[in-house]
Amino acid sequence: MKPMLSRLLAALALAAVALPALAQEVVVYSARNEQLIKPLFDAYTRETGVAVKFITDKEGPLMARLKAEGKNTPADVLLTVDAGNLWQAAEEDLLRPIKSPVLEANVPRHLRDPDNEWFGLSVRARTIIYNPTKVKPSELSTYEDLANPKWKGRLCLRTSKKVYNQSLVAMMIHEYGEEKTEAIVRGWVANLATAPLPDDTKAMEAVAAGQCDLTLVNTYYYGRLMEKNPKLPLAIFWPNQTLQDKSAGVHVNISGAGVTRHAKNPAGAQKLIEWLSSEKAQNLFADVNLEYPVNPRVSPDPRVAAWGGFKQNLVNVKEAGSLQAKAVKLMDRAGYK
Ligand code: FE
Repeated sequence: MKPMLSRLLAALALAAVALPALAQEVVVYSARNEQLIKPLFDAYTRETGVAVKFITDKEGPLMARLKAEGKNTPADVLLTVDAGNLWQAAEEDLLRPIKSPVLEANVPRHLRDPDNEWFGLSVRARTIIYNPTKVKPSELSTYEDLANPKWKGRLCLRTSKKVYNQSLVAMMIHEYGEEKTEAIVRGWVANLATAPLPDDTKAMEAVAAGQCDLTLVNTYYYGRLMEKNPKLPLAIFWPNQTLQDKSAGVHVNISGAGVTRHAKNPAGAQKLIEWLSSEKAQNLFADVNLEYPVNPRVSPDPRVAAWGGFKQNLVNVKEAGSLQAKAVKLMDRAGYK
């Protein structure tokens, strides 16, 4: 009895010593705001006992800070939106590759870095929003069709300065090549009803106000605006659904995360990202911002599901980053401000 008890006590003592190491906190630099991430991190801490410290800022300053801090950074995880930004972080060697069967199972291949430095955690679709009193859905088909002269004076677009449109055009360059993409973007510009608008919400408000008939936005902005004002004459259309080639499907992008190059707690960082991709965390992560879960085994929030299902474009979102510089130059040449 006695030796067994002492063995048990010894085991307990070991566990007690091991615990603080296991429970070492994880530090997150987040471009998603506090209101979106705090409930998640609180849930993670309740479940695991691991504290999550975080700071929030725009992706530019966060990445500059990571770079400036170098080896001394306290950050274990970088959490940001748009594959263009995550690709940039990987390019600047701010992230490290990780081997995670959990993330490989939970995150579809086109929504994570082929080199495993970042992983999508939620999906946003960049799609067509139209005024149903002016446009019949049967008139709509593809992104490229928005260059058709039939839309002259009827299109509104957000400024090309935002990464969202840069990523969209980058993905189009990947599909069509530069020449065809430039012709499409020139067509869009020729169809503009107004100068490019500062954000997705303003673009939809212009459509609702009758300044133009249709625009391109991320779905969660549509969800937010319609929650505030359900009577707005705005409807959602999923383009490129009947095509069979690589341009098939709605353009999607991600919010996502990676483990930092100089993480002090890389194992803890990986566990947190894996948890965020899990079935129990995915709704918490996506629903709060009216996004789609990245994990295909998780259903979207009913408010989001009500917009209908759609086929995603399956080109890896990393192209949004690798072709970003070309996209910016192309939009400039095409006169897209
Ligand atoms: Fe956004």
